[in-house]
Amino acid sequence: MLTTDPIHARLQLFGEAHEIAPDVFIHPAFVNTFALRTPSGLVLVDPGLGTQADSVHAAVRKWSDAPLHTAVYTHGHVDHAFGLRAFLDAGERPQIIAQENCVARFRRYRLTHGWNACINQRQFSLPQPMFPDHFDWPTLTFHSSLTQRLGDLEVQHHAAKGETDDHCYLWVPARRYLFTGDLIIWHAPNCGNPQKVQRYPLEWAEALETMAGLDAEWLFPGHGLVVHGRDAVRTVLTETARYLRVIIEQVLQRMNAGQTPEEIFHAVEPDPELAKRPYLFANYDHPKFIVRNLLRLWGGWWNGNAAELLPATPQAQATEIATLAGGVDAVVQRGRQVLDQGDTQLAAHLAEWATRADPQHRAAQELKRDVYERRLGEERALMAQGIYRAAMNDAKKVLGQ
Ligand SMILES: [Zn+2]
Repeated sequence: MLTTDPIHARLQLFGEAHEIAPDVFIHPAFVNTFALRTPSGLVLVDPGLGTQADSVHAAVRKWSDAPLHTAVYTHGHVDHAFGLRAFLDAGERPQIIAQENCVARFRRYRLTHGWNACINQRQFSLPQPMFPDHFDWPTLTFHSSLTQRLGDLEVQHHAAKGETDDHCYLWVPARRYLFTGDLIIWHAPNCGNPQKVQRYPLEWAEALETMAGLDAEWLFPGHGLVVHGRDAVRTVLTETARYLRVIIEQVLQRMNAGQTPEEIFHAVEPDPELAKRPYLFANYDHPKFIVRNLLRLWGGWWNGNAAELLPATPQAQATEIATLAGGVDAVVQRGRQVLDQGDTQLAAHLAEWATRADPQHRAAQELKRDVYERRLGEERALMAQGIYRAAMNDAKKVLGQ
């Protein structure tokens, strides 16, 4: 779970819990939970998933019996802020620190619980809708920064919008320890997610650049490998910022030139060299989704096609296309041809038109199933995979499979 050579490292998301740096304990179970030993007790950074709460508690308590002084949520996501229960049930009463927007986030999670449960089922291919409805609320929130003095150790908390609007990172100057939360995840930054609320690529890049200026010796990320060594840490931070900047600059230039969202979406590409870095693989989010997210942030929702402004229903459009083609059979046949030629993008449109024109058409649903099975195989971004898998399963359900 540790690298001094991030450019040649191999990503790991799971590993043994152990002391990974002096006075820093890691529990890596998809999400990294860290415990920092301080003169006043332990600081727990990101308690983790609710399902891992017992495991985190047992591992930390095996390592140290110092009281839990503070728990920090680097942000309020399900994999970071829901693993504190076992400590609380054991009678510990840490102060729970989070950026102030975390409270509004938890309120929104209550308001849109069913929606989030469905999104999570689709995104992570879960057997049923799942989302937490119990919150261990922050007890101490801050707006832009907060400094704790724990004995002679100073721990700084800095707000930094990026993946979320409630994000923060921790900086321990005396030890040169930087806990980034999900500002570093060992994937291309998760700031395009098609099913989630607004993300903040520009602020994210700025936060990475600020962190790079700290000259940290250790980088403890929200997911993936701990990075040790000043040059290695600076490289990961500056290159991740650059990856974002390259996309942001293209989007801005094209927006300001008056291009439409459709044109911008198809034109913008990430830096091909940076995209090969093991900490910037697009295996989770997709760079094209970052483009969409910037368009949403700085523009409206209209895509540039006037017909889409107040459109006919998708079913009416599909029926019209099928009529033009000479029936749903013809659309399916063309879809098969296009799929056989390997153009899964266009084949997906044909499959959607065919199944929307006639949802009970078996060959249309079979085409849809096969198209998304292929797209699933071709696509490495988990965000896209979840949606393709769900579409494939929808077709299978209609087919009784
Ligand atoms: Zn995370």
